Amino acid sequence: MSFTVAIVGRPNVGKSTLFNRLVGARRALVDDQPGVTRDRREGEGRLGDLSFRVIDTAGLEDAAAETLSGRMQVQTAAAMAQADVVLFLVDARAGETPTDRAFADLVRKSGKPAILVANKSEGRAGEAGAFEAYALCLGDPIAISAEHGEGLSGLYDAIRAALPEATAQAEPDEVPDSAEQDKPIRIAVVGRPNTGKSTLINRLLGAERLLTGPEAGITRDAIAVDLDWRGRHLSM
Ligand code: GDP
Repeated sequence: MSFTVAIVGRPNVGKSTLFNRLVGARRALVDDQPGVTRDRREGEGRLGDLSFRVIDTAGLEDAAAETLSGRMQVQTAAAMAQADVVLFLVDARAGETPTDRAFADLVRKSGKPAILVANKSEGRAGEAGAFEAYALCLGDPIAISAEHGEGLSGLYDAIRAALPEATAQAEPDEVPDSAEQDKPIRIAVVGRPNTGKSTLINRLLGAERLLTGPEAGITRDAIAVDLDWRGRHLSM
């Protein structure tokens, strides 16, 4: 089953760039001037095994309805009304602004499942800004870089978690057949000595199967461990 994602946020936070990244074609006009994108655009988005309709909106601004920014706000409200999930973008480099806070209120009022996305998070400047987004009280920000294609697996997980179970199912032709599903998932636990690999495996097993201790190198060889976890067979 398909679903609809609306990308909202103030001008210049990277909505068009994310839209292009999801839709996979340079369909939206991208520019350094705030407010270049003024209309809603729609496209077929894909992220991993998810496919969905994406609506890119004009930037939201907290202004009277008769002004241009008021009209942009109306566009955004209309997009959110059609959406199953709202991606609320902020600019991790610019930090949190009063306009972001006003938009956060609108997103909350829409009552839709919303994901706070801290865009432009590549590099150190971005990381610090992503933390600031916690202040918007819309949950954990998902740090991405729409321009560099970073953080998209975190966005995928967040979209799946925000969707009702039935909607989040993979497309029918991509559901693994049962033989595929019965195959153990093979996981390699690797890392330098004494980082806690055996302790992690013991924790997953719920038993002290592997010997652990403060001395580095207690586990000398590769070790194979099988376990069932949430109905799936894992081989580590
Ligand atoms: P919109 O007004 O919200 O649709 O924003 P745009 O997608 O037009 O992007 C505004 C500006 O931010 C453009 O110059 C983009 O190249 C830039 N931009 C978008 N995403 C990123 C990113 O992940 N990192 C950085 N550093 N810049 C970005």
